Amino acid sequence: KVRVRFAPSPTGGLHLGGVRTVLFNYLFAKQNGGDFILRIEDTDQTRFVPGAEDYIFQTLEWCGLIPDESPKHGGPYAPYRQSERKDMYRQYAEQLVKDGYAYYAFDTPAELEAMRVDFKTAENPSPQYNQQIRAKMRNSLTLGEEEVTRLLNEGMPYVIRIKMPENETVSFTDMIRGEVSFHTSQVDDKVLLKADGMPTYHLAVVVDDYLMQISHAFRGEEWLPSAPVHLLLWKYLGWLESMPQWAHLPLILKPDGNGKLSKRDGDRLGFPVFAMDWTDPKTNETTIGFKERGFMPEAFVNLLAMLGWNDGTDQEIFTLEELIQKFSMDRVHKGGAKFDYEKAKWFNHEWIKKSDATSLTPAVQSLLAAQNITETDISFLHTVINLVKERCTLLSDFTAQGIFFFEAPQQIDTDSIKPKWDEKKNLFFTELIRAYELSTLWEASDLEKEFKELAAANQLKTGELMLPFRIMLVGGKFGPGVFDIAALIGKEDTVSRIKHTLS
Ligand code: GLU
Repeated sequence: KVRVRFAPSPTGGLHLGGVRTVLFNYLFAKQNGGDFILRIEDTDQTRFVPGAEDYIFQTLEWCGLIPDESPKHGGPYAPYRQSERKDMYRQYAEQLVKDGYAYYAFDTPAELEAMRVDFKTAENPSPQYNQQIRAKMRNSLTLGEEEVTRLLNEGMPYVIRIKMPENETVSFTDMIRGEVSFHTSQVDDKVLLKADGMPTYHLAVVVDDYLMQISHAFRGEEWLPSAPVHLLLWKYLGWLESMPQWAHLPLILKPDGNGKLSKRDGDRLGFPVFAMDWTDPKTNETTIGFKERGFMPEAFVNLLAMLGWNDGTDQEIFTLEELIQKFSMDRVHKGGAKFDYEKAKWFNHEWIKKSDATSLTPAVQSLLAAQNITETDISFLHTVINLVKERCTLLSDFTAQGIFFFEAPQQIDTDSIKPKWDEKKNLFFTELIRAYELSTLWEASDLEKEFKELAAANQLKTGELMLPFRIMLVGGKFGPGVFDIAALIGKEDTVSRIKHTLS
């Protein structure tokens, strides 16, 4: 059975690359009638951030990518939080020591620090605990058996490290990259079990993928260098037959293609990188998310799918259902995908346009509520939404594009009217007030007809009058057809807005 997992460490807000990893896992699971598991990898307590796990759940909920098993949803392989599984890992680390694939290392933090200084060279500025260096350190490979037993009995703190084999090539088949090989001499002896008894990511990810019967493991490309360590662990623990198929997803790159997209790029260039607003509990600083910026979840999911994948045609707009049907790992590109915020907004605009008023209503209602507009007739609201949605790239645009249907504009761009204003125009609008006040018909076409007739009677060009009229009604040079607006806001408001500007 297909069983995939997303295994985040709860260290902060979820980067769009993380949500894309969720998405590809989810699509693959659903396409194959499999399970999508969310496992929280919180063994590194120094990096634990309160609130981050909750944030992950809220993000998945917003995106509609709900796990089948998780710390919140439960499941047959619970617990799904690694800190709660702590006691399960030690036996495997001990087993590896017994079988000669790992060893105890007793080096103190000061000794490790000294090692980094002593072995530092120009070619190797940050020496690692590896095959050469381990021979010069205090571990169960260099100390005699007696000494090791003595240290253990004394309660000397130790870690367990994997013993990287010398001169071996390890390789595996990645679903995106094909055959990938590493030479073991390039890999250091990673810690598997820490002094406090907690496993490191490397040990925990392998043990849990095994115990949770994960069939496929999809993760970001940044984990590729860890693959040889994991592969050897699968082998040394005797589980190679059950090893999941791996796919390392391409990086999401800065807009200029120069390196991995980071939160800082978003801050610098003014676009979101996180899924939702994230407030750092230490600094209390909030980083804006796609959700709060005004993205529809459908659009967000859609644009993420297109970062590194396409279905081989020109189609760009996909629903989640379509993605489940069409997604395939072998169409995911190897190369990084450049993030283009303008394109991201394009996706959102397309989604707003194709959504019906009913589905946009809750979002628009909450935007209006934020402006203290709460009592709105639902069919009036739908008419407004349909009239302005073409003009909204972000959901948040509905505020500016729609608010004047509910209240008179607070600011009127009179600067744009004044330069060409004269007595003739003044007279025209005074007469227009009278004409509209007397009008018994109030459809856009009636209003336009009266307006034009009155302009002609005053020997004025309609074109010159439309802009001032628009500014009187909405406050600025924007919005849908000006007679549609007048028709919708009604006689009383139309007349009072003209009067207000004239006075
Ligand atoms: N805990 C890792 C992370 O934070 C998971 C990597 C993996 O999927 O193996 O991304």
